[in-house]
Amino acid sequence: MKKDELKSLVTQMYEDLIQNINSQTQANKEQVIDYLRDAVSTIEHINDEEMDSIEHARLAFTNTYKSIADKSISSYKETNGRFEELTQLHGETIIECHDALIDLPSIKAKFDEIQNHMNSEVQRANSVISKLTNQVKELEESSNLDALTKVFNRRALNTYLENICCKKELKHELHLMILDIDDFKKINDEFGHIAGDKILIFITNLLRKTLRDGDKIFRYGGEEFIIILNRIDTKTCTAIARRIINLISSNQLIYKSKSLNVTVSVGATKFHSGDTPDTLIARADKALYRSKQNGKNQMSTENKDGI
Ligand code: GH3
Ligand code: MG
Ligand code: MG
Repeated sequence: MKKDELKSLVTQMYEDLIQNINSQTQANKEQVIDYLRDAVSTIEHINDEEMDSIEHARLAFTNTYKSIADKSISSYKETNGRFEELTQLHGETIIECHDALIDLPSIKAKFDEIQNHMNSEVQRANSVISKLTNQVKELEESSNLDALTKVFNRRALNTYLENICCKKELKHELHLMILDIDDFKKINDEFGHIAGDKILIFITNLLRKTLRDGDKIFRYGGEEFIIILNRIDTKTCTAIARRIINLISSNQLIYKSKSLNVTVSVGATKFHSGDTPDTLIARADKALYRSKQNGKNQMSTENKDGI
């Protein structure tokens, strides 16, 4: 290749390069490097023997530029297209947002309405639950009491004894007494059922007055009561039982101008760990049976070992 031919080629390359850079809006360093690399390669492969190689090289450079330009343009188009897409999307989003904004207050109002409804529903439900809870409580409390005598009923006794018996060990001594009105059937027969009821009320009132606050009175059956004495020893329990028996027997009850003599029999036992409500009551019952057998109007005790 002649010197002038080479000068012409390089000048052409330079002009092509400048022209292509100018024609591209996004021409960058990488594209120029690629071009120069191709140019070096083209020059390296110029065959001195082939005079038409300059023309070949020129075409090659031109094609390379075109390719760069095409790539650049297509890339721009792609980017532009994407941008247009994005713009369109953005526009649509804005429209959607705009639409959403138009609907949002009504939707929010709807949600607020639903929320308010739900809140008032929850409040209403809570108030109903609260009322029902109180009613249930009242019902439970009233159902724990015997309607006639207003002492605890058998249901309350079961709960109370189960609570005691489920404890491994009681920190204090506890005694259980069964009190049974003597010959109550006769009293009923002689004075009537109402007289019998009044006697039941009289006896419970007397028990309330006699016993301490910590002691509990339960109506166990028709004319049977169970008394739980907390924090007293067997000696004191016996003394209390005797006091009750004496108080009842010494009270002259007047009913329709007629004097009534009422006596009670008592069976007592001490709570031991391992007792169940049944074993505890059974021992007291055994003692009561002995009191009845021995002539009534008295008390008996029954120990755990049966002595
Ligand atoms: P004992 O001395 O052996 O205990 O004889 P009792 O007559 O007291 O025993 P019995 O079990 O034979 O009779 C109990 C009576 O108690 C029968 C029943 O009419 C009466 N009674 C049970 N509950 C009530 C009640 O709520 N009111 C009245 N007035 N009487 C009742
Ligand atoms: Mg009885
Ligand atoms: Mg009786």
